[in-house]
Amino acid sequence: MALDKMDENDWKYHGEGNKSLVVSHVQHSRVLRLLKYPSEDAENTQRTTEQAFQHILNIVEYNRNVMKPLLGEKYVHSGEVVKLPLDFVRQLSLKVQQERPELRCDKVMDTFSGCGLCLPNLTHLSPCHFGDHRPPLCVEIKVVTLLILICGIMLRNPRCNVLGGLTLLTPPKCGFLPFSRHVTKECKRKVCRFCMHQHFKLANGKWNRLSRYCPLDLFSGSKQRMFVAIKHLLEEPQNNLKIFKGGELIYSCKDDAKQQPDLNELVQHLWPYFHHSNGLYNGHQSSKAVFNEFIQVICGALLGSGDSSRSGEPRKVQLAESRSVCEASPLHRELLRSGNHGLPKDSVLAKILQVQMLDNLDIEGVYPLYKRVEQYLEEFPKERNRLQVDGPYDEGFLEKVKTCPSEDDGSIEYAVGKVLQYRVAMTAKDCSIMITFAPCGEDEKLQANLEIQPPKPRFTYSVSILDLDPKPYDSIPHQYKLDSKIVNYYLRSTTSAQD
Ligand code: ATP
Ligand code: MG
Ligand code: ZN
Ligand code: MG
Repeated sequence: MALDKMDENDWKYHGEGNKSLVVSHVQHSRVLRLLKYPSEDAENTQRTTEQAFQHILNIVEYNRNVMKPLLGEKYVHSGEVVKLPLDFVRQLSLKVQQERPELRCDKVMDTFSGCGLCLPNLTHLSPCHFGDHRPPLCVEIKVVTLLILICGIMLRNPRCNVLGGLTLLTPPKCGFLPFSRHVTKECKRKVCRFCMHQHFKLANGKWNRLSRYCPLDLFSGSKQRMFVAIKHLLEEPQNNLKIFKGGELIYSCKDDAKQQPDLNELVQHLWPYFHHSNGLYNGHQSSKAVFNEFIQVICGALLGSGDSSRSGEPRKVQLAESRSVCEASPLHRELLRSGNHGLPKDSVLAKILQVQMLDNLDIEGVYPLYKRVEQYLEEFPKERNRLQVDGPYDEGFLEKVKTCPSEDDGSIEYAVGKVLQYRVAMTAKDCSIMITFAPCGEDEKLQANLEIQPPKPRFTYSVSILDLDPKPYDSIPHQYKLDSKIVNYYLRSTTSAQD
């Protein structure tokens, strides 16, 4: 990609989140991720080129030096910062404007700095995964927050910390420490944050239907519970599920949140991938079979070891039962209780879960430590850099995250370590998983049949984790307030519903 000869016609709108807008190259398997600013104060908040460059560089370094080692080399793509011609960026911004969903237009794309992040297009499969004529399918799942209190899990043995690896293999019988003692509201021990947040979002008009998806079902490792979780995501994708075919978005929440996305349309896209030898597409029965197989492929990828060439590591990461069941999940109690099978240690879900569990004090335990850090920095402002509260994101940062003392010895190191662990866990609660798969080519299918394989259609797939930005140090007070708002709202709305 010659950066001096950029042409906006080579790029098209691909998608956006709250912080960035993404365009994809029409030929090469590349995307550009550009920053966004609130439109009402675009003038005031426009950063200098230097600041924007540093911001994106921070993202790259955080991905490379912190998230990659924690989540695994194969899942994380750190990307590179690029300086783009301003003319190109302005033309591009005009070009994509009409494609943008209305609900995202409260922010504008950064056209001032010319800085962007260049990444591989994860909705494509790399050429070494040769497929057949059917374009790859890609499912993006925004992970979101887990049960806050699963995070109480740490062994009494202080040498076994979460990152030590072995801790999580311990069967639930072993002596776990009690849930974070800092938690003040009992419901946080029973209902996951996502399910509570649903009530809050409904009340604020963000969505007008409750999602039945519960992340604890997805992370249970039980095929039955995972199946139902993904089915619920398909029924009500909100902003937690997107499906791409050949790099094009074919299924997501509608711009008009009142409208439900069309599952019939989706099944039309999917059935050429999942129909059986005799199968002509005919109505309800087949669409159910298509969805079943589709969901099974997704579950397989989520429990596998990152790509189809290796089989999953059999050792399991398992949560104590009481911490892996959310009372708000619509699943039948029996199924919930019996369905806690643990996750294969190498799987993308286990990797993300381990990092989420770095938040083992809960925001209620972290907030006082944040205040301790603030007070210390007020006295010794020069210490800010050494303590790396907001970067730089280098090996030293990762070291602080990994070696934080397990007990509060009153030190500033402990407070900083816990704050950094909390920030890293927040990233892992807000990331997305991309599962991209395509049917194997005919040759490969023949080869595969020589091995002992189930007689199912075989897919080649690849799994990645994206949207791994550092969460700002000074967002902790905001998180603290938000947490109590969500919990209080949940308590009020559920108790009044029972009256
Ligand atoms: P959020 O509001 O979730 O924090 P964000 O503003 O940080 O989002 P991203 O999630 O990184 O932005 O990107 C927005 C969307 O662009 C993603 O949901 C995904 O669909 C798409 N996208 C981002 N990176 C890639 C990539 N490397 N390949 C393909 N698609 C991508
Ligand atoms: Mg995102
Ligand atoms: Zn839940
Ligand atoms: Mg993000």
